[in-house]
Amino acid sequence: MFQTGTLRTRLKYIKMNQGEGPFEIPVPWFLIKHPLGNVVIDGGNAVEVAIDKRGHWGAVVDAYDPVMDVSENCVDQLKRVGVDPQSVRYVLQSHLHLDHTGALGHFPRAQYFVQRNEYEYAFNPHWFAAGAYIRADFDRPGLNWKFLGGEYTDNFDLFGDGTVRMIYTPGHSVGHQSFLVTLPNTGPVLLTIDAAYTLDHWNEKALPGLVVSSIQAAESVTKLRRIADDTHAMVVTGHDPDTWPTFLKAPYDFYD
Ligand SMILES: [Zn+2]
Repeated sequence: MFQTGTLRTRLKYIKMNQGEGPFEIPVPWFLIKHPLGNVVIDGGNAVEVAIDKRGHWGAVVDAYDPVMDVSENCVDQLKRVGVDPQSVRYVLQSHLHLDHTGALGHFPRAQYFVQRNEYEYAFNPHWFAAGAYIRADFDRPGLNWKFLGGEYTDNFDLFGDGTVRMIYTPGHSVGHQSFLVTLPNTGPVLLTIDAAYTLDHWNEKALPGLVVSSIQAAESVTKLRRIADDTHAMVVTGHDPDTWPTFLKAPYDFYD
């Protein structure tokens, strides 16, 4: 488990209608080491954010102000735990919002997975979601994309052995997906990503401040809760300042 710094934002942008107060959230991303190849999930913010945040993100920094050092880019963080960028076989995109696109284009041998409807929406978002998509991050020549779905694909089994499954969880974004990772000793780990920003969201006390369908967002939480009940998974919420500090994190620690 890694993070590329934090975003300084307001409570209402994370928990809908819950106030103007300041709220600072982590920006997590993940590495899975599998015998058949390394997998990166999301990759946090693009490195450009640490160099010129307003130049790269534009006015959205007034609502979500990134706090990120250049050294926190995903490639350099992986190098610090001994992972060569050439060894990354797959990059899995939960969705294409700006704080999840840091891996795109940085792993020359990787195939990049995203739901097709998320990718298509990212080029032509509605006004209220447009600030969350930075075209320079995902509109890159030569990316080896793997699009899931005609409309969408649910429960895609990456290695065919059940260890990494992509769970379709739209609502926060058009083609959002979460991940169920099953580790040899830890067992199932459910990465909700932004289908549940925080435990309040998970416990049905809040909707995300940014949402394309409240109905789908609520149904996606119901779906993930059922999976967590069935599998007894460890649940990792997406941008949760209360729970994130409790997990074992790179570079010093990891789940096996
Ligand atoms: Zn998002």
